[in-house]
Amino acid sequence: MVAIGIDIGGTSIKGAAVTPDGKVLDVFSLPVDKNDNQDQTIDKLIVVLKNYLAEHHYDKSNVLGIGLGIPGSIDSPKGIVSYSNNLKWEDLHIVEKIEKELGIRAKITNDANAATLGEAKFGAGKEYKNLLMVTLGTGVGGGIVIDGKLYEGNEGKGAEIGHSVIVLDGRPCTCGRKGCLEAYASATGLIYDTKIAMEEHKDSLMWKVAEKLGKVDGRVAFEAMRQNDKYAKDVVNNYIKYLGEGLMNFFNVLRPDAVILSGGIANEGDYLVTLLDKYCRDRNFGYNCTPEVKILISKLGYDSGKIGAAALFF
Ligand SMILES: [Zn+2]
Repeated sequence: MVAIGIDIGGTSIKGAAVTPDGKVLDVFSLPVDKNDNQDQTIDKLIVVLKNYLAEHHYDKSNVLGIGLGIPGSIDSPKGIVSYSNNLKWEDLHIVEKIEKELGIRAKITNDANAATLGEAKFGAGKEYKNLLMVTLGTGVGGGIVIDGKLYEGNEGKGAEIGHSVIVLDGRPCTCGRKGCLEAYASATGLIYDTKIAMEEHKDSLMWKVAEKLGKVDGRVAFEAMRQNDKYAKDVVNNYIKYLGEGLMNFFNVLRPDAVILSGGIANEGDYLVTLLDKYCRDRNFGYNCTPEVKILISKLGYDSGKIGAAALFF
């Protein structure tokens, strides 16, 4: 038996068959055409899926279901994409449509939740029961696993940890509030701070690093810090402070066994973990006499979304 896991992104849709022990088989993908409306995109996906299932001899006798991870506001119990800013989808009854066309059960969840479930079941979190996943990319995404189960909140719309305020009346956030964790701890926030420091310090090594990379991205400050640039060190230490304080808020609420970091900034790997672990350790992981929280880097990378979407059926 397998489940089909599908990861829908802004530019492409990627899928695969996944076995109950997390093996990825028979991958497929299709581009998302920005000029298509939501019905056209889904129609194309259904055609690709029909061919894919036929080619690999998958049908309802050997497929447990089709799981989809979708960016945006997802009403998972009802199987409806309420709104996806990324894809410009609104009130899309995607589960009903896929089940009708393919005769196989379907389920959806938010893309961050899908990645969380993948990491929890088969990746960095498989030894732990209570987990927080934090995606440090363009925004700050979150996922929560309690007692081995994904916690999605009412209508599947919880775990939006990026939109918790860490600076009162701080930077404006995409959600309309001010001072959200996302505005500081996302790659976007880090790049913003990196650029300010670079403008203030024309002698910083960050200029050379950025020139080499051809742009200012989330790696510049970390790389210049490793080369002992004091201005970069300030930028990174500030970043760790924002991220650390944000995480400790959630440690105090959830007291997870571990937190898994993913997304672009998580590519800093052990270097990031060491800095963040020290920051949180110096502050007792948020509160006195509480168990420490293991800080881990995601293991499944870009496969986590597909695997997690399939795992909605395991
Ligand atoms: Zn926000």
